[in-house]
Amino acid sequence: LVRLSGVNKHFGDLHVLRDIDLEVDKGEVLVVIGPSGSGKSTLCRAINRLEPIDSGTIELDGEPLPQEGKALARLRSDVGMVFQSFNLFAHKTVLENVTLGPVKVRRTKKADAREEALTLLDRVGVKDQADKLPAQLSGGQQQRVAIARALAMHPKVILFDEPTSALDPEMVGEVLDVMVGLARDGMTMVVVTHEMGFARKAANRVVFMADGRLVEQATPEEFFTNPQSTRAKDFLSKIL
Ligand code: ATP
Ligand code: MG
Repeated sequence: LVRLSGVNKHFGDLHVLRDIDLEVDKGEVLVVIGPSGSGKSTLCRAINRLEPIDSGTIELDGEPLPQEGKALARLRSDVGMVFQSFNLFAHKTVLENVTLGPVKVRRTKKADAREEALTLLDRVGVKDQADKLPAQLSGGQQQRVAIARALAMHPKVILFDEPTSALDPEMVGEVLDVMVGLARDGMTMVVVTHEMGFARKAANRVVFMADGRLVEQATPEEFFTNPQSTRAKDFLSKIL
């Protein structure tokens, strides 16, 4: 579904993505882990073209990523994104946060968008918060709204960039539970996270990044019990 070939990206002198080759199959859950600064967020941002790349190709469904215009807007609805910092619209209600994209980008009728939004909010367990503003919700609730907002666009794949790392510990579980549910329902997901419980429960594959390279790929079981590279061993010894 997503294929990166020979992808390179620099920020000035810094080579942040180095010859990345990576495929994500439909229905696959890929967990990306690695030290701070290794390029995980840049990789996610490249996949929905929030970040242009210097060389190589990225394809979605066999088509190269569009550069601009309507096709780019379409890409942004095909590739959902959930960030560490929720990024909800602060002055819109929870319900409006979820209906805005479908109405504006997908041209869904307001009433239909509203009905689907309520179904999605119910699915992530925050339907009763629909008329509140994001600031009135806990971090865990806000992140679940962000997931509902991504789902409302009917994406082909959702990218999660450290979705639980800004949350108080007691709220991590409720967000991971929603994500595990999505994985079980067959959603294609790329998840940057150090939550090994999630990786073990839901990931088909773990990739380890360091210094802009994909150093290692394995099943979660293999990776966590028997990492091959020194970099991965070193990293795991710090987070375990
Ligand atoms: P973290 O675990 O801290 O989130 P990361 O693996 O997500 O790290 P990236 O955010 O992808 O890492 O950053 C990779 C490198 O690129 C870092 O050294 C970072 O400082 C640098 N970088 C990221 N964005 C920019 C930018 N817009 N301009 C210049 N340098 C950047
Ligand atoms: Mg990051």
